[in-house]
Amino acid sequence: MSDDVDEVLDDEPEDDEELDPEREARRRLALAQIRQYPDAALKLQARPVEDFDDELKSLVERMKLLMHDAAGIGLAATQVGVLRRVFVFQPDEDEVVAVVNPELVEVSDETDVADEGCLSIQGVMVPVERSLNVTITGKDENGADVRYELAGYAARCVQHETDHLDGILMLDRTTQDARREALGVLRPRIVLS
Ligand SMILES: [Zn+2]
Repeated sequence: MSDDVDEVLDDEPEDDEELDPEREARRRLALAQIRQYPDAALKLQARPVEDFDDELKSLVERMKLLMHDAAGIGLAATQVGVLRRVFVFQPDEDEVVAVVNPELVEVSDETDVADEGCLSIQGVMVPVERSLNVTITGKDENGADVRYELAGYAARCVQHETDHLDGILMLDRTTQDARREALGVLRPRIVLS
């Protein structure tokens, strides 16, 4: 029996992170600290940050760790139950940054549709239409001005995270059919939990 399991695992797609039990345990612990759909906090509007204090810095540190452990590419404060306008994301591969009080100051008319996932809506991917290029401004956790001109996946990510701060989920942005299908996957789980 264990031989069979080994064989199956060897045939899995090359995703080393999935196969590392310690990494998987950390991912599950992180996800347990992230609000999961249909948690009411996910539908609420976050308030602007006014004080760039130690509390904000420790929130940002915690969110960066959770995002990393959960193997996500973005995380908004509402997803950890803090209704403040701040998210963390990866503008490029080696960097994770916080954007406080983000404003999408430029969004391209040109859009594309791609599948999105969400750390708060596990196990479903839905197609969402987003602007291809955006410019986002705000502050970092120390109160310094930041400005990112983003394209492609990073642009998609900050639109998704900014939506979180307004209580908008990818399920609210997808097609009716995809939404129905996703809710079909999510509903049985809700009843059980
Ligand atoms: Zn999300």
